[in-house]
Amino acid sequence: MTLFFRSKRSPLKNHKSKILIVDDKEENLFALEELLAPLGAEVVKALSGTDALAILASTPDFALILMDVQMPKLDGFSTAELIRKHPKTRHISIIFVTAIHKDEAYVEKGYELGAIDYVCKPINPKILTTKVKYFLSLDNQNHKLKSLVEQTTQFERGKNLILEYAQEGIIACDENGTVVYLNPASLVTLGETESTLLGKNLLDVLHPEGETYIDWAQSALAEAIANNTVRKHRQLDIVTANQDVRTIKYSFGPYNTAEGSGGVMIFQDITEEIKYQNTLLHVSTHDALTGHPNRVLFAELLRNEIHRSDRHAKRFSVCFVSLDKFKKINDEFGHVVADRLLIKVAERLVNHIRKTDVIARIGGDEFAILFQDVEDGFDIKETAEKLMSTINAPFDCDGRQRYITASIGAVTYPDCGGDAENIIRAGHIAISLSKQSGGNQWVEFEEEFKNSTADYYSFESELRECITRHETVCYYHPIIDAKTGRLGAMEALVRWPHPEKGLIMPGKIIPVAEESNLIIDLGAQVIDNAFAQLKSWTDAGLWPPTARVTINVSPKQFQQGIIITQIKAAQEKHQIGLHLIELEITENLLMSDIESAIQIVKDLRKLGITIAVDDFGSGYSSLMYLKELPADKIKIDQSFIRGLGSQGKDEVVVKSTIDLCHKLGFSVVAEGVEKREQEAFLRQAGVDFTQGFRYAKPMSEADTLAWLKKRNKILDGIYGKA
Ligand code: C2E
Ligand code: MG
Ligand code: MG
Repeated sequence: MTLFFRSKRSPLKNHKSKILIVDDKEENLFALEELLAPLGAEVVKALSGTDALAILASTPDFALILMDVQMPKLDGFSTAELIRKHPKTRHISIIFVTAIHKDEAYVEKGYELGAIDYVCKPINPKILTTKVKYFLSLDNQNHKLKSLVEQTTQFERGKNLILEYAQEGIIACDENGTVVYLNPASLVTLGETESTLLGKNLLDVLHPEGETYIDWAQSALAEAIANNTVRKHRQLDIVTANQDVRTIKYSFGPYNTAEGSGGVMIFQDITEEIKYQNTLLHVSTHDALTGHPNRVLFAELLRNEIHRSDRHAKRFSVCFVSLDKFKKINDEFGHVVADRLLIKVAERLVNHIRKTDVIARIGGDEFAILFQDVEDGFDIKETAEKLMSTINAPFDCDGRQRYITASIGAVTYPDCGGDAENIIRAGHIAISLSKQSGGNQWVEFEEEFKNSTADYYSFESELRECITRHETVCYYHPIIDAKTGRLGAMEALVRWPHPEKGLIMPGKIIPVAEESNLIIDLGAQVIDNAFAQLKSWTDAGLWPPTARVTINVSPKQFQQGIIITQIKAAQEKHQIGLHLIELEITENLLMSDIESAIQIVKDLRKLGITIAVDDFGSGYSSLMYLKELPADKIKIDQSFIRGLGSQGKDEVVVKSTIDLCHKLGFSVVAEGVEKREQEAFLRQAGVDFTQGFRYAKPMSEADTLAWLKKRNKILDGIYGKA
C-alpha cells in the first residue's frame, strides 16, 4: 500500500523565488535589478508603496521585499505596516534600503513595523547580495517544506482511503488486545457498528466459535505481538452479531510506532468460498443419485478404517452388494425407472444398517456397506442374508412389480489383509463367485480365499508377466460338421504352460484376467496365436477351405471396439482372409452397452467374420436379445447336452432351441458331446455342428497338426481330397 503511494508522489518542482523591489526612483530600481539578476530570482519592481501593495494583493508569493524607506505619500514604514497586517503577506521578509543613518529609535521602529534587516545607501553590492542570497535560500527551504507537508497530507489521506475502501477487514489493537481501529469492511463481516466495538478486546470482537472465554494474554495473537512474529494465512470461525458463523482467513502481525505498539489483523470472509469448495468436494466424492459416498470417498473411508482397525485392534466388515442382471431392468424400463429403483435399493439397505455404518455406491449397480467394530455380536451371515432378503422383496417399477436379486461379497478385515483396493477387489472376487453360480447369494471372502488371497495376487502378477513374455499358448478343439463329418471349425482355447504348476486351464486364468483387465492383452495374444496357426495349417495344405478357426472373446475386448483393432492387426501380420475366422461371444456381452456391442458385431460381420454365441442357455438367456443379435451360430451350452438321454427335459429344450435357432436363421453347434447317443439325438434333432471329447480333447499345436494330417488322410480315403 505504502509503496503504491510513494511511487505516485510527484517530485518537488523547481522553485523560482521572487523579489519585490520598491523605490520611487526608477534608476534605483534598475540598479537593484542589475545587482540581483545573477541570483536567479525573479525581480518585480514597484515605484511606490501603493504599487507594491497592489502587486502583493494579486501575487503575494514573494520571498523578499527590498524597500526604500523614503518615498512620497506612502513611505516604506507605512507600506511595511500594511504588508504585515495582511495575513497573506505578513510572512514576507522585508529589508529596508535607506540613505540616512538615523538614531536607534528610528531603526527600532523599522523593526517593529516588520523589517528584517537594513541596507544602507550607497549599497555595498557584496553585502546586499549575501543578505539576499540568504533570504532566497530560506525561501527555497520553506517552499520545499511546504511541498512536503502538502504531499504528506495527500499521502495520509490516500492511506486512509485505502483502509476505508479495502475489501479486506482490517482491525488494529494495542498490546492488550484493545481494539483501536476497525475499517468498514471489517464492520460488514462482524455485523456491528464501530462505536460498539472500539475499545473492546479483539477476541470479544471476533467471538471465535466454540470458545466461551480466552484470556488475551494466553492467546496466540498476544504471543505474536510479544514475540514480534506474524501469524499468516490462518483460518478462524467467528460468530457475528447475528449469530452467524463465518469463516475468516487472516494474517495478524505486530506494529511498533512512536505512538505505541500492538497488532494489526487483516482478514477476508471466506465463508462462501468454503461452502463452494465443500460443494465441489461433495460432488466429487458423492454419488449424485443416492447422495451416498462414491467409490473415491469409500476407498478413503476404508483407508481410515484400516488405520483405526490397526491402531485399536478392531475388526470391520464390508458387504459389497451387486444387483444381478440389472442391465435387464435398465433395458426394459429405461434409465429413469432404473435410477429410481437404485434409490429404493439404497433406502432399503440404509434401513438395515446401524447409524455408524457407512453405505456407498461404488458402481452402477453396486453398493458397499462398511460395518465398523464388528466384534459385538455382529454376525456377517445374518447381516448379509438380511440384505439379500430386503432386496428380494418386490419393487414397484413403473407400476409393475419386479423381483431383483443381488450377489453379495462379504469381506472382514484384518482377516483379508491388504489395503483398501485389495479389500474392494476381494469383495469383487466374492461377488463374481456368486454370479458364476447364478447370483442371489452371498459369499464370504474370508472363508473362500482365507489362505489364497496372497496367492491370488501373486497369481495375477505372474500371469501379467506370462502375458508380457508371450508365454500363453492355445490348444485347439475341433468342431465337426454334423452332416458331413468334416472339420467345421477349430476352437482356440487358451492355456498357460506354468514352469512349476504345469498347464493352467482357462477356468483359473480367465476370471483373474477379466478382473485385472489383463484379458485385453491376453485376448490379443490368443488372436495372434490362432492366426499364426491357421496360417501354418493353410500353408501346409491341411486346412479345409470351408473350415474356420474360432476364437473366444471377452466382453471387455468389445469396449471401444478394441476387438476390431486386434483382428485387423493380426490380419495384417499374418495375411489371413477373415472369412476363415469366427468369434465366440457370450450373452454377457449384451449385459453391458447392448447398442454399441451390436454395432461392433455388425462391423465384424462386415469384415467377413462369423459370430457364434457361446454357452447359450447357461446364463442370461434372453430370446429377445437373440432376435436382435446379428450372430451366425448358437452354441448350446454343454450342461444341456450332458443331460441328454436321462429322460429329463433337456431333450425338449435342446430340440426346441435347435428349431427356434433355425427359424431365426442361426446354425446350431452342440458343445460337450461325449457319447454316441448324444450325437445320435443331436443329429436327429437337426444340429449343424457338434463338438466334444467324443471327437477329440483340446490339443496342443503339435497334436493338432498330427490330428489334421491323420484326419486328412482318412477323409482322403473316404471322400477323396476335400
Ligand atoms: P468354452 O468356450 O465353452 O469352451 C469349451 C470348454 O469345454 C473347453 O474348456 C473345453 O475343453 C471343454 N469341453 C469341450 N468339449 C467337452 C466335453 O465333451 N466334455 C467336457 N467335460 N468338456 C468339454 P476349457 O478349454 O477349459 O475352456 C473353458 C472356458 O474358458 C471356455 O469355454 C471359454 O469360455 C473360456 N476360454 C478358453 N479360452 C479362452 C480365450 O482365449 N479367451 C476367452 N475370453 N475365454 C476363453
Ligand atoms: Mg467357446
Ligand atoms: Mg462353451
